[in-house]
Amino acid sequence: MPLAERVRPLVRPNLHEIKPYVPGRTIAEVQKEFGLHDVVKLASNENPLGPSKKAIAAIQQLLSELNRYPDGAAVDVREAIAKHVQLTPEHVFVGNGSDEIIKMIAETFLQPDDEVIVPFPSFAQYNFGAQVMGAKVVSVPLTADFQYDFEAMKARITKRTKLIYVCSPNNPTGTWTTHTQVKSFLEEIPEDLVVILDEAYLEYVDSPDPLHSLEFISEGKPVLSLRTFSKMYGLAGLRLGYALGDPGLIRFLHQVREPFNVNAVAQVGAAAALQDHEHVEACRAANQSGRLQFYKGLKELGIPYITTQGNFLLAQVGDGMRVFEALERYGVIVRAGFPGLQEYVRISIGTEAENERCLAALAQVLRA
Ligand SMILES: *Cc1c(COP(=O)(O)O)cnc(C)c1O
Repeated sequence: MPLAERVRPLVRPNLHEIKPYVPGRTIAEVQKEFGLHDVVKLASNENPLGPSKKAIAAIQQLLSELNRYPDGAAVDVREAIAKHVQLTPEHVFVGNGSDEIIKMIAETFLQPDDEVIVPFPSFAQYNFGAQVMGAKVVSVPLTADFQYDFEAMKARITKRTKLIYVCSPNNPTGTWTTHTQVKSFLEEIPEDLVVILDEAYLEYVDSPDPLHSLEFISEGKPVLSLRTFSKMYGLAGLRLGYALGDPGLIRFLHQVREPFNVNAVAQVGAAAALQDHEHVEACRAANQSGRLQFYKGLKELGIPYITTQGNFLLAQVGDGMRVFEALERYGVIVRAGFPGLQEYVRISIGTEAENERCLAALAQVLRA
């Protein structure tokens, strides 16, 4: 019997259900496959302007000290984050990306048969955490125009519900909730659940009545806010995400934390990036004009799109997978194949020149 067949029965049965995560294609892969050298990646909502120079300098300084273990308690970066959001370091929990924190939230709370309410379509990692723990994912569809259906979410709460995820702006749709909507939802649901507000794209939001989870946290609500250095701060490769919450809630996440879960380079790089307000402002401004560039360009091409509050948008191209593959031949990597979104591609907003490349390639693809 092949080894995999002998080992299979030893593996926890729920793991067989998990579909592997398919990340965006890398520039190197596409260069190699199509023999291109000038490839633009607009697939993973990365910051096209790169990390802050302050972060790079801090990281370079640390390199000669990599013989040392990191600070397991991540004191300095937690203090820097606490100061940034005007909470205490005890409110701040750091992880190897917020992906790791989503998995740790699942490990902290979920047993088989527990239920997690997850919006659909949204970020796949929420389902992953639940599935690893053998818990049940209760998937609640967004409305036809990709808004949260809070009534439907409320209706799906049972005695077994432990966690509810809300992602705003929502990945991959770019749509968002208002603070008022989330506030009334929190007032109407039982208090013995944890609500996770994933605010990975918070820094890009410029809509009225934006979600501000800190109010709920200071009111002592069982809320965790998830944030990251991977998007606006341009440090996706470094891996640092954080959760904010009442210390009475945060303390339980430490039960499943590896002693050195956030590496030393990430700790200094993130702390330095937080100090670079000018870089954040420049990135925010570039993203706002990039959004308008896509709205205008897509409109001219007759491609419907979903208005976004993130650094990415959905374009309704017809056959998403076909357009995704065709764009690759023009050296433009976007993302398609999201469950429930077959007609769309998700495009991350790049530099002005990258956006132009993408729009020009889309024009070619549609003509063909
Ligand atoms: C990108 C993203 C994250 C951040 O992931 P990291 O692990 O911190 O890189 C979290 N949530 C959503 C919805 C995202 O799109």
